[in-house]
Amino acid sequence: MSDKNRTEIDQMGEFGLIDHITRDVKIHHSNTVKGIGDDAAVIDCGDDYMVVSTDMLLEGIHFDLSFMPLQHLGYKAIAVNVSDIAAMNALPEQVTVSIAVTNRFSVEAIDMIYQGINAACKNYNVDLVGGDTTSSRSGLVISVTATGRVAKDKIAYRSGAKKDDIICMSGDVGAAYMGLQVLLREKKVFEADPNMQPKLDDYEYIVGRQLRPEARTDFIHDFRELGIVPTSMIDVSDGVASEILHLCKASNVGAVIYEQKIPVDQRTFDTAHEFNIPSVTPGLNGGEDYELLFTISQDDFKKVEKNPNIYFIGYVDEEPNSARMVTVGEQIVPLSAQGFKHF
Ligand code: ADP
Ligand code: MG
Repeated sequence: MSDKNRTEIDQMGEFGLIDHITRDVKIHHSNTVKGIGDDAAVIDCGDDYMVVSTDMLLEGIHFDLSFMPLQHLGYKAIAVNVSDIAAMNALPEQVTVSIAVTNRFSVEAIDMIYQGINAACKNYNVDLVGGDTTSSRSGLVISVTATGRVAKDKIAYRSGAKKDDIICMSGDVGAAYMGLQVLLREKKVFEADPNMQPKLDDYEYIVGRQLRPEARTDFIHDFRELGIVPTSMIDVSDGVASEILHLCKASNVGAVIYEQKIPVDQRTFDTAHEFNIPSVTPGLNGGEDYELLFTISQDDFKKVEKNPNIYFIGYVDEEPNSARMVTVGEQIVPLSAQGFKHF
């Protein structure tokens, strides 16, 4: 192919590339209720919906083994998939795990990854039911597919947000991103002088959020107990700005969020300050927090108004595809997705 016809992937970005490669996909089965475009696909299986999601983690792109303990890596591979299941308001049931390893890894090292995988399966109450094992020439790859189940009237898509709904979050954001910055800084220090030991004691919370994220399946149980079905939901893997834009696009609505209301832990705030990063940036444009971002109707708001575990960060309005943030200085700025760039 001549260079004239060559399109660079980074011209499109991750989401553009997904749209591009899936443009000719056709659905052939009437039980495929939702295909590409949400956190998980939705399949009609009689009384309930089954949801299916897959995610791949690559060494050097998604994790760095110089600071990622293998058990944590195994745990995280399951947690990030379970998070996509939770984002559909479903509870996880099964996972398959595929790994590609180089001969740099010993059996004992792979055992450690599986210790983490097994711990996560126990914690999220999922069964490991299959997978694939192969060799790799360029580093470790872990790919997980997860299934879950939800009653048909409780499914939450990205596309259900309506005018006046309240935008909510399940927990604080930005910590995982700042944890990564600390780990990368300490790695550089260590590379420059191997006698230097990493100083991580003061950063336990944010580093823990990076290395061992949890999927918020507890919220799915809470929604059942509170009698709430979110009108739309997504998990925060790429930063709040990117996820709000996904909800707006899928729901054909706009959103207003308040900078002051975005939950940022004091430890994240302090570390951002130390790195000269505006405190709102890690939460808005960082990633890997795996909190749930969801909308609820005004009627349901009364049920959770005083719930200390839910953060209310804004509301939905009618202006299609327009997401704005009211800053602490009361300026209105459009949200733009920077997200995590893997290309
Ligand atoms: P998430 O961040 O929730 O894992 P992604 O942004 O990775 O979601 O993917 C968005 C949507 O695109 C999902 O529905 C996913 O299944 C689909 N998707 C991603 N990559 C591909 C691909 N190579 N082929 C088909 N569908 C894909
Ligand atoms: Mg997701």
